[in-house]
Amino acid sequence: MFRNSLRRCASQARVTATASLLSQTRTILPITRRQIVPVLSAFAPLNRIASISRAYSSEAPAAEDEAPVTTPVEEATKFTELEGVHPNLIAAITEGMGYNDMTPVQSKTINPALKGTDIVAQAKTGTGKTLAFLLPLLQRMLVEDPTLARKGAKYNARSDDIRGIILSPTRELAEQIAVEARRLVKNTGLVVQCAVGGTDKRQMLNRTRRDGCHLLVATPGRLNDLLQDTRSGIDAPNLAALVLDEADRMLDVGFERELNEIIKCLPSTTEKVRQTMLVSATIPDNVIRLARTMVRPQDFEFVQTIAENDSLTHDKVPQHIAPVTSWANVFPSLFELVDREVAKAQEDPNGRPFKAIVYFNTTSLVELAGELAYQRERNGAAGSRPIASYVMQSKLTQGQRQKAADTFRRAKEGILMSSDVTARGMDFPDVTHVIQVDTPRDRESYVHRLGRTGRQNKEGEGWLIIPHASVPSARKMLKGLPIKQDGTLESAETDLASGESTAAHAELKSLFGVMPRTLLGATYTSMFGTATDKIAVAEDVNEWTVHGWGWKTPPTVSRRWVTLMGLSRAPGMNISDDGGRGRDREGGGDRRGGFVGDRRGSRHDSDRSGGDQFDSMARSAFRDDAGRGGRGDRGGRGGRGGRGGRGDRDSGRSSF
Ligand code: ADP
Ligand code: MG
Repeated sequence: MFRNSLRRCASQARVTATASLLSQTRTILPITRRQIVPVLSAFAPLNRIASISRAYSSEAPAAEDEAPVTTPVEEATKFTELEGVHPNLIAAITEGMGYNDMTPVQSKTINPALKGTDIVAQAKTGTGKTLAFLLPLLQRMLVEDPTLARKGAKYNARSDDIRGIILSPTRELAEQIAVEARRLVKNTGLVVQCAVGGTDKRQMLNRTRRDGCHLLVATPGRLNDLLQDTRSGIDAPNLAALVLDEADRMLDVGFERELNEIIKCLPSTTEKVRQTMLVSATIPDNVIRLARTMVRPQDFEFVQTIAENDSLTHDKVPQHIAPVTSWANVFPSLFELVDREVAKAQEDPNGRPFKAIVYFNTTSLVELAGELAYQRERNGAAGSRPIASYVMQSKLTQGQRQKAADTFRRAKEGILMSSDVTARGMDFPDVTHVIQVDTPRDRESYVHRLGRTGRQNKEGEGWLIIPHASVPSARKMLKGLPIKQDGTLESAETDLASGESTAAHAELKSLFGVMPRTLLGATYTSMFGTATDKIAVAEDVNEWTVHGWGWKTPPTVSRRWVTLMGLSRAPGMNISDDGGRGRDREGGGDRRGGFVGDRRGSRHDSDRSGGDQFDSMARSAFRDDAGRGGRGDRGGRGGRGGRGGRGDRDSGRSSF
């Protein structure tokens, strides 16, 4: 069935490619023009769409088309101006949430989405994408069954008649979306349920069978599990809409397989027309591949809210890189920075309290950082009042994860040591600093982690603390981003081997002395899993264990592990044939592989197709990647083209 629908999409794509390409030209215009674009019915005659599109395209219009055929109307920018939205939903936003004005991504998405058009939307982090897909999704459910608008309808809700599904890559994000959805449906009879991994499935099923469900927010693994289980009582034969939040992550290894399984369990689009929305702040090439299989080519819009000469990151969030000599300098520099910024916030009567997320690449490093911060908190950190710290990583139980997320969300100040589980979509209010340690796994991760600050137009700061050995790979990955080198941290370049030290180094050395040896051992082995130059990392980390931890030798590792990790030629390894085992790389679980293979795949796909509306979207998707180029050749070149343009534009803005 799924294959059939794929074939159907492919043939529809060919038939409608021209019209959609033109329609798409209209949707990728800068915001100012977009606001006077006429409101079009998704089924408007093709020639009408074509002539309107030409009015905004970079190609010269044909003489007979010069006069506009429709009267431009302003798009709604206030929630109360939206036509055709149930007043119960609007009241929940304006009275319940207190929002009157739509954010740009909301006005640009909600207007076309209300007409049932499939949407692929790209907007920066923290700009209100959740409401942008929730409102049209809920409205569509009410249009298909107007009785659901009455509060009493909730008593008839069933678990086997789900009308809307939202997929999120992480459990905490699913919970966060469900909370926002529940606020939105409070004046209606719509019932929202959340199904995520790591929680009691039976409990969720009992609740859902008892209370019913109209909108299900879920992680792919758990949803797939529920749909495959014929006795779960969960079904969606009348599904009205499907949303993939953080859509690009849905193509990570594992998620994509689950997504395909899920789609097979949902009604085919010939049995039941449904609206699909794919949303993210980053649209790498692989999302174009996802869009090809998920959205209706004859009825979709690519909503682009990032202007061509803009950056994916927020101007109000200055980004600093602090290269440090070695891993021995990382934690002293991190805590020196934290103490300095805490003191700054405490001294400034108008300043915002220090609330930071520190990202690490492995769960062991997160645990170690949490333990160090906890000990500092207990001892009373040097220089300033110690602040509370929290830990968040995928190996905690779901209860611990949820508690950490909830407590940090409510905290006025504090520091969250985290892995990438919080990097996507999490809306912790008033985060002032995002500090990333070592090279992130890819450019998208950097952007999303940084996006936890500077939300809703607020201010924030980004920091990247990177050992010298990793600077070349970081420079390549983050080329073109406005990151400025910082040399203000005293502990960054201290040479411990020659006896130099700072207060932070001395404090950290005594703290490492009380860290559990098993934790340090696990941290040690975890550091090689993600490293590109393993030999250089081994050299550096072995030095760290001696000069920073005060150990006589690095932790013992087995010869088998050394061979497996490609460390046979690394200097200073402490090898024993019955030694450590090199576990604790955050490899399984939440780290679901990389994007590289997928990107290549999608490139081949689009090259083969010779240029259709998806290629056009690919060109307009803001990949913000100096290496891959991007927008700027909207004017009708076939194929992908345009590589290098964005890189030229951005070059020189990065100063490291
Ligand atoms: P994104 O998904 O783009 O990262 P979110 O949907 O998480 O952003 O929204 C970020 C924050 O902005 C949330 O706290 C949300 O409640 C708030 N928000 C959403 N829409 C509006 C609006 N129209 N006016 C003011 N705040 C809004
Ligand atoms: Mg979001």
